[in-house]
Amino acid sequence: MSRSFIEVSQLAKRFPGPKDGQPLTVFENADFTIKRGEFVCIIGHSGCGKSTIMNILAGLDEPTEGGIIMDGKEISGPSLERGVVFQNYSLLPWLSALKNVMFGVRARHPQWTRAQVYEHSQKFLGLVGLTGGAEHRKPAQLSGGMRQRVSIARAFAIQPKLLLLDEPFGALDALTRGTIQDELTRIWSSSEQTVFMITHDVDEAILLADRILLMTNGPYARIAESVVVDIPRPRQRGEIIHDPGY
Ligand code: ADP
Ligand code: MG
Repeated sequence: MSRSFIEVSQLAKRFPGPKDGQPLTVFENADFTIKRGEFVCIIGHSGCGKSTIMNILAGLDEPTEGGIIMDGKEISGPSLERGVVFQNYSLLPWLSALKNVMFGVRARHPQWTRAQVYEHSQKFLGLVGLTGGAEHRKPAQLSGGMRQRVSIARAFAIQPKLLLLDEPFGALDALTRGTIQDELTRIWSSSEQTVFMITHDVDEAILLADRILLMTNGPYARIAESVVVDIPRPRQRGEIIHDPGY
């Protein structure tokens, strides 16, 4: 029997509580699977643990209990097979936008020449509309939306098997958001890439996802159970989501 691409089983995460207090159980008993090539969105109220789950999927944090299997192997530590767009962008401040992207591409393709790395990185910066000199500026000299686009280009450019997106379009104006959503759909449609995306925008989840996971409960209720509800939404690969009218 073929296994799922990703199997999350009995995942729990607790953070140490305030001094002598109870630990904070963010979630417990979280179980879900993701198929290869699926586009999954996870929605849920602020603070329910979405970013925490994504950090564990990225290998940047460890679960307190349970584990995640990807491609038959336990996830432990970060890997270039997993590309991440963080909620706070996490760009390297001392490098230009272009060099932030090149940094990841060079690590992914150590055998490439500098010219290949440069060309590939520029292509992905072009896809998110960062050209004409903006790509040579450092993060501090870019707007929030531009930084977010650099972060998206960096993750797309390493062409990971699993793309992890934490509210990736939050800082973008509506027009740019539509364009980059289309680009994401195009990249996803033409590859075997699996996408796991956090959003608080239900409409966006309905627009993009094959399947929506709803994360409920969490620290406010202190209910030590994460209920992940599956909402199936069959969608054709390559289905056009925005019609630009040209
Ligand atoms: P979401 O992304 O769904 O808004 P998070 O995953 O960021 O939620 O956070 C879930 C809960 O875990 C929140 O209550 C948050 O304060 C807490 N939390 C997150 N990271 C840490 C940490 N490193 N130490 C302690 N508590 C944390
Ligand atoms: Mg978050």
